[in-house]
Amino acid sequence: MNTQDTWVLATHNQGKTREFKAQWTLDRVQLLSLADCGLTEVPSETGTTFAQNAFLKAESAHWASGFPALADDSGLIVPALGGEPGLHSARYAGPTASDSENLRLLLANMKDLEEREAYFVCVLCWWDGQGDPLWVEGRWHGRILRQAVGQNGFGYDPIFEPDNFQGFSLAQLEPAIKNQYSHRALALRALFQRMEAR
Ligand code: IMP
Repeated sequence: MNTQDTWVLATHNQGKTREFKAQWTLDRVQLLSLADCGLTEVPSETGTTFAQNAFLKAESAHWASGFPALADDSGLIVPALGGEPGLHSARYAGPTASDSENLRLLLANMKDLEEREAYFVCVLCWWDGQGDPLWVEGRWHGRILRQAVGQNGFGYDPIFEPDNFQGFSLAQLEPAIKNQYSHRALALRALFQRMEAR
């Protein structure tokens, strides 16, 4: 592996930051948050894919901080809704919508749907300002519940029942369980493997 020792994590989402830090096993790399670097700007997500948006965030955090940057773009895909909320998961109910407004809108839009399969996607992009960026992806399959349950996590966790923990929403699982099986955990493990091989 031939990378620098300090990376910046290109997100202001505290739920994601908490999960990344809890899963961090790349001991020789110190992960800083944007706030640690004194950065407050959020790049606009103008890409048309998760991979493009992840790169836009990594690029902006790298140029602003000078460190190699790790960014994720993630979202919830509901095939029965044509892939919604998808790229717009964070802003599904409007540009300043809260997590609970977003999940309430999703429940309302799925009120009459029997087909409730869904999956989370996390695309990670690492870029150090030189050469090609590195992308990896993780997915977590499950279904959308009919009502919100549980207090843990963030985003759509209270309405997502993962296939491998039936009978529970993600918000009812211990954070350590989510951090072991999530779309973010799978993507991060793939990234660590690619980094070890460099
Ligand atoms: P972005 O990647 O910052 O554009 O935001 C992704 C959005 O997808 C979040 O704001 C959440 O609404 C949703 N999301 C992504 N990962 C998770 C998760 O692990 N649990 C619940 N919601 C998530």
